[in-house]
Parts: sequence; C-alpha cells; structure tokens
Amino acid sequence: MVKLIEERKDGIKIWELKADSLRVLVSSYGCTILEIWTEDRNGHADNVVLGYETMEDYMEKPGTYFGAVVGRVCNRIGGGSFTINGKTYEVPVNNGPNSLHGGINGFSYHNFESRRKSDYSVEFTYHAKDMEEGYPGNLDLTVTISVKGDTLRIDYDAISDKDTLINLTNHTYLNLNGAKANVHDHTLQISAERHGCVNADGLATGQFRETTGTAMDFHKPARLGDVLANESGDEQLTLGNGIDHHFVLNQEEEDQIVLADPASGRKVYITTTFPGAQIYTANFVEAGHERQPGAVYGKHYGVAVEPQYMPDGIHNQEEPDMLYRAGEPLRETTLYRFETEA
Ligand code: BGC
Repeated sequence: MVKLIEERKDGIKIWELKADSLRVLVSSYGCTILEIWTEDRNGHADNVVLGYETMEDYMEKPGTYFGAVVGRVCNRIGGGSFTINGKTYEVPVNNGPNSLHGGINGFSYHNFESRRKSDYSVEFTYHAKDMEEGYPGNLDLTVTISVKGDTLRIDYDAISDKDTLINLTNHTYLNLNGAKANVHDHTLQISAERHGCVNADGLATGQFRETTGTAMDFHKPARLGDVLANESGDEQLTLGNGIDHHFVLNQEEEDQIVLADPASGRKVYITTTFPGAQIYTANFVEAGHERQPGAVYGKHYGVAVEPQYMPDGIHNQEEPDMLYRAGEPLRETTLYRFETEA
C-alpha cells in the first residue's frame, strides 16, 4: 500500500509504503528513507533506522546522510579531480583533501519529483544539470522504492548525455534494536573475500586485502562490538576509525550481507547487483536531533550498508565501474529483506 501522507508548501512530499509487517516512510527531499518500522520477536514495532526529528534538520546538511540517496558520486574522489577523455574536472573538496558524496550540493540535498508508480512503489526522479557540482553531462536519475511482503527494494536508473561518473547508493543507517543502544551487540555477515583499504582520510587507496583471518573477516557472523574494539590493533580499522570500508561482494549470491540483532530477533538480508558495499559503523555520528523519541544517538549507533561501485574507481580501476558513457544506461537494484526470529 502506498500513501502520500504529507505534501509541504515547499514541495517536499512524504510517502508511506506498507506491506505485511513493514512500514517505510520516504521523503522526496534527497529521496530519503526517514523511517522503517518492523516488529521484534514480541510483536512490538520499532523504527530501525537513524533519522532526524524534522525535515529542517535534514535540510541543514548535517553531513550524516541519514537515509538519503547519495550521488552523483558517492564516497570520495581523491583530490576532488578526475580526468575523462583527456579533460580534467574539478569537483568540490568537502572532506579533508577529497570530494565526498557528490559535493556540497549532492543529490541528498535536492527535492526529487515523486509519484505513485503502483500499489507498492513510488518513483522519485531528479535531473542533474551538465556541470552541476562539477560533473559533466545532464543526468536523469530515477529511484524506485517498493515495499512488498517483507522486502524493501530500491531500483536505480540513470542516464547521462555526456561521458560522466555515476556512483549511487542509499545511506540508511540500520539499528535493528530501534536505536535503544549502539550496534555493538549486532552481528554482521558479509559474503566477501576482499575489502578495499583506506588511508587516514578515508580515501580508497586502490589496494585490497583478503578478508580471511583479518579483523574484518565477516564470513561468519561477527559481533560488531568485538570487531570495533580492535584488540589486535588492525591498521585498517584504526585508519577508518572503525569500519568504513568497501567490501567486494561475491556475485550471484542472495543475502550477501546479513545484519542481525539477537536482542530483538530482527535480521535484515541485503542483496544487491552492485559489485560491492561500503560498510560504515557511524564512527562520526554524534548525539543530535533524533527522530526516535527517547533515543540519543552516538558513535556506533548504526550500520550504514551502502551498496555501490568501487570508491574512487576513476583513479583506481583500469575500467572504472563508475564511468558511464553518454547514453549508456545504469540499472542497479538493492533488496533489503526483514525477518524476525522467534
Ligand atoms: C563514509 C564515511 C563518512 C560518512 C559521512 C560514509 O559513507 O564512508 O567516511 O564519514 O559517509 O556520513
């Protein structure tokens, strides 16, 4: 069931998508997932994502990207510049020496057009102009959000009229315990043999490390508190100030990422067509204006699972998966299946 629950004077619309036991609120501003409600093992519903109290809090550009779609290029572009077809482009340097999450006015900070697409989906569209935030090409983006059964689905479609870079994600922070505590007691499992390494600015170095046997081996469910304690002094965990790394996902597998909260019994299974995902354990999140009544967020209060292309691939890959040619369509999908164990 899809319902437009609010249409504000400034054009921002808030949509409700509801299925069996899942209720999702999405704002047209930044195509942002505001809330996801699911039941725990006692049938008690909680909002399992981090968010702000008011729309204005989102519009202040707090830099957390709670729930938002991020683009034109999510994650960092080293030095805020890149070259396509021999031409060098400069994009806003807004995070240390690098460009983060599409620049100062990335997609997260624009109001999308939105319309009901079907009984279970809403379509959000945004047109980014040629050279907007320094990126070449007029780009048409459509994000379709659907809720059916126990699954939330996000489809990304994009096309540019010039060769350009595109890397899109959704930046929802999950806290399956309704943000009553940090996520240390959550477990995380990732089907990944390698993860990307970062430098002290969080920039992808282009180097990869085999996950097996390291502090970031998630082949089996790992308790996040144990990983984040970093007793072995793992250099990558230290550089990332926690987990803030890209995992190369094993392809053609379902449920590539599984996040679970033993206390509530909630589990989310994530499957994506993107080749990898940035996992970010809210290392820089501080208490602010929170949406959940009574919740006070802090460090490690959520896990952002951000399916996307290889960060800074334009500098690190021979054939960057973020490089899209004029007229070449982008089509990617991410599924989030919510279950609760008895
Ligand atoms: C990045 C973090 C960054 C955060 C900003 C994440 O996607 O990987 O390094 O601090 O976004 O909210």
